[in-house]
Amino acid sequence: MFQQEMNSNQTGHAIVIGGSIAGMLTARVLTNHFAQVTVIERDELPDGPAFRKGAPHARHAHGLLVRGQQIMEDLFPGMTEALWAQGAIPTNMGRDLTLYIGGARVKPFEADLEITGSSRPLLENAIYSRLRQMPQVRFLTGRDVTGLCTDEANRRVTGIRLQERSKHGQAEQELAADLVVDASGRGSKLPAWLEALGYQPPAETTVDSQTSYTTRVYRRPHNALPWKVLYNMPMAPDHSRGCILIPIEGDRMLVTLIGLNGDQPPTDEAGFLAYARSLPVPGFHDAIAAAEPLTEPYGYRRAANRLRHYEKLPRYLEGVLALGDSVYALNPVYGQGMTVAALGALTLDECLRTQSADGRAGLASRFQKQLAKVNAGPWQLATGQDLQWPCAAAGHKTDPVTRMVQRYFDRVLAAMVDNGEVAQAFAQVQNMLQPPTTLFHPRIVWQVLRAKSSAHSANSAQKLTRQGDAQHRIRETSAA
Ligand SMILES: Cc1cc2nc3c(=O)[nH]c(=O)nc-3n(C[C@H](O)[C@H](O)[C@H](O)COP(=O)(O)OP(=O)(O)OC[C@H]3O[C@@H](n4cnc5c(N)ncnc54)[C@H](O)[C@@H]3O)c2cc1C
Repeated sequence: MFQQEMNSNQTGHAIVIGGSIAGMLTARVLTNHFAQVTVIERDELPDGPAFRKGAPHARHAHGLLVRGQQIMEDLFPGMTEALWAQGAIPTNMGRDLTLYIGGARVKPFEADLEITGSSRPLLENAIYSRLRQMPQVRFLTGRDVTGLCTDEANRRVTGIRLQERSKHGQAEQELAADLVVDASGRGSKLPAWLEALGYQPPAETTVDSQTSYTTRVYRRPHNALPWKVLYNMPMAPDHSRGCILIPIEGDRMLVTLIGLNGDQPPTDEAGFLAYARSLPVPGFHDAIAAAEPLTEPYGYRRAANRLRHYEKLPRYLEGVLALGDSVYALNPVYGQGMTVAALGALTLDECLRTQSADGRAGLASRFQKQLAKVNAGPWQLATGQDLQWPCAAAGHKTDPVTRMVQRYFDRVLAAMVDNGEVAQAFAQVQNMLQPPTTLFHPRIVWQVLRAKSSAHSANSAQKLTRQGDAQHRIRETSAA
């Protein structure tokens, strides 16, 4: 369905601000509708997989959900195999994932869900290399977009202003476009640009569970670890510490320590290991203490859920849209961001298809409203959990229905610890293959509600973990 349509009638120029995951996937779908697509990225994009300043989050574990992988494979056929050829690791989410929730080990379950373990730079580079081969797409790198240009009536965007990073202080340039898409991430300046042009900027909702990550890359020990992929999912409101261990290309593994509710994993060596020791995953600390570290521990502290409500604007500046983290920046603990970006690109493709007949009038409003519908589920999933952290709940009123849904989801998580069918149903929802409503199918509800003992064991495990955390903190404090 997403095969590139080589339509010689295509006209017009689209600009994408930001050459990261959302920007590049957007550029790909825009080739279905525009004769030329320009991606403007402030970093120089490396030829191979490498870190760059504009994407500091790329140092941390990035799991691509099955739905996101499917969309990317449709957009760039053969991409998954190309990633495997470069050392990415096929991973079955039932067999290969050792999952703990709130300190309780989830029994392995059957899942027809395959994901690919790789570093984020490898994934980003795989998309970049494919896009660079497309004649309609050009990259202008090392350039900052600094504002928008509009028509005389100030109703429609006619292009952008940009500045070469190496030539700061020199005059800005202008680049004309028929459509501008903002994919510049959490730090997007689009609200300020709109305001400067006399348009109301979008209201924002923030749910901040004070999530932080610290990540270190290790050499992967051969056959020595009891896990292929390990995830200890933090669980509100008590179990604030988690970890992810994923094998990546180059015989390496990424070890990410997670803290919520302000419980920050340290970035110094001793602190990193002490935090790992406090986790309720048997053998985890010893395994990483024995492994060869290949990098320093890197921290990331800016991971609140933040939604900019473009869908509610009273008046739209035509010709400019926003997607990806620029609109929906989600707590990464739930691993949804890249898939949400992919869904955003897909939504744009669909909107442009249905709009082409009437010349794209009203596109901005229609797209942002449609995007809000598509992303409602992921936002609900992330914030529903996060609002149970005391630091996030402060200042937010939760209505009784939402509270009831939250409580039910907690029971789903507790039930899946030893119920394979519930675990499968949850994995389908988590991977965005099924809507959250499927967890309310009578068969699942019945199993969730009668799984009292599992819930009890998960809670007990949490309590044990809490005690362990507390004791560990006491040990740390007295050692200091
Ligand atoms: C710690 C962490 C871990 C994560 N883990 C996962 C995970 O496991 N799974 C998952 O799916 N998602 C994860 N995410 C989320 C994921 O990284 C993002 O949702 C995804 O990358 C989409 O982001 P984006 O492309 O919208 O923005 P970004 O990746 O932030 O990219 C924005 C780009 O725009 C460029 N830019 C910004 N301003 C300008 C400008 N004015 N002019 C030109 N260029 C500009 C920047 O240099 C950057 O390249 C994680 C995020 C974090 C922070």
